[in-house]
Amino acid sequence: MTEPSPLFETYARADIALDHGEGSWIVDTRGERYLDFGGGIAVSALGHAHPHLVETLREQAGKLWHTSNLYEVPLQRRLAQRLVDATFADKVFFTNSGAEAMECAIKTARRYHFANGHPERYRIITFEGAFHGRTLATIAAGGQPKYLEGFGPKVQGFDQVPFDDLDALKAAITEETAAIVIEPVQGEGGIRPVPIRFLRDLRALCDEKGLLLVLDEIQSGMGRTGRLFAHEWAGIKPDIMAVAKAIGGGFPMGACLATAEAAKGMVPGTHGTTYGGNPLAMAVGNAVLDVVLEDGFLDAVNEKALRLKQGLASVVDRYPDVFAEVRGEGMMLGLKCVVPNTVFVKALYAQHMLTVPAGDNVVRLLPPLNATDEDIATALERIEAAAAGLSGGNA
Ligand SMILES: *Cc1c(COP(=O)(O)O)cnc(C)c1O
Repeated sequence: MTEPSPLFETYARADIALDHGEGSWIVDTRGERYLDFGGGIAVSALGHAHPHLVETLREQAGKLWHTSNLYEVPLQRRLAQRLVDATFADKVFFTNSGAEAMECAIKTARRYHFANGHPERYRIITFEGAFHGRTLATIAAGGQPKYLEGFGPKVQGFDQVPFDDLDALKAAITEETAAIVIEPVQGEGGIRPVPIRFLRDLRALCDEKGLLLVLDEIQSGMGRTGRLFAHEWAGIKPDIMAVAKAIGGGFPMGACLATAEAAKGMVPGTHGTTYGGNPLAMAVGNAVLDVVLEDGFLDAVNEKALRLKQGLASVVDRYPDVFAEVRGEGMMLGLKCVVPNTVFVKALYAQHMLTVPAGDNVVRLLPPLNATDEDIATALERIEAAAAGLSGGNA
């Protein structure tokens, strides 16, 4: 694609034009088949063209697409109730994307303290390496200079502390602090799981100081780590949680979940969205849940994930000049590279396999949660082949 593009030049795109997919496989316009272990960045959790999702979307497309939130949307209520039944939450607000789910989470947290008579408590603590989206507020929350540069004054009210450092966190809390926002497993930051101990400490600290614990499970949620939500591994509950990516299985949607108490400031008129929760998205969201909540689905994810991680650990051992380590939970795995991660991602393109680079020189593996044993075996073969090609100065 060397011709000038009419698109904003915000992406350095690979020269692969994708045409259609099936399960863990995706085919480009030249007919080349790729094993998709990137999932469009953890979105296509049930692979491509899942029959139940396709059928649901087709049927809903002939019925009703959009109504706005001026009316009752029965499929929206249904999906919200199912999410409430499956989680800590009592209340749900549907959005079209992850960043919007985070915006809603931030607004909900600030508004809670406002409703309690403490409008001065609006500041939010986040962690180094975080990623919360690309809107003006969420780039301020993420705090990454490369995403903030050139976009005017950083949105006020975000304080960042080092990852997994309880003393620094305690020192950053003031009378103005409203909430702590954290990804249970940092995704863009390089598949960095937050230690379970630290998540428990956070919960205790929030309870002690009257702060809200806000989890960004946009990437780690919806079964990705082998539990419906990653925080379940720590046995804690947040007050507010942002979800997106896999929740629509590829249909753009997100959600902000909260306890009734945390959401008490979000009264009529305080927030809104034109598209959020529209019948098309809600139909697909319900269909995704049908599959993910099936008996045994998450057990199968854990079994496959274990096999994948063990296989990766063995490859890492055999190619120490290519990889430093494998890390992550469930089907959210990262290969920390010794070679530049972008070089390894390209070497995998040559093996007809798609992955996603992340921070900290990591290559992310985000396979479909329903990848077959054969897909996983093929992935391991291709990763090994790419590593062999780069090892011993072959790079
Ligand atoms: C992808 C992501 C976002 C942003 O979601 P968008 O749908 O791109 O707006 C926010 N937080 C985390 C952890 C993410 O992985």
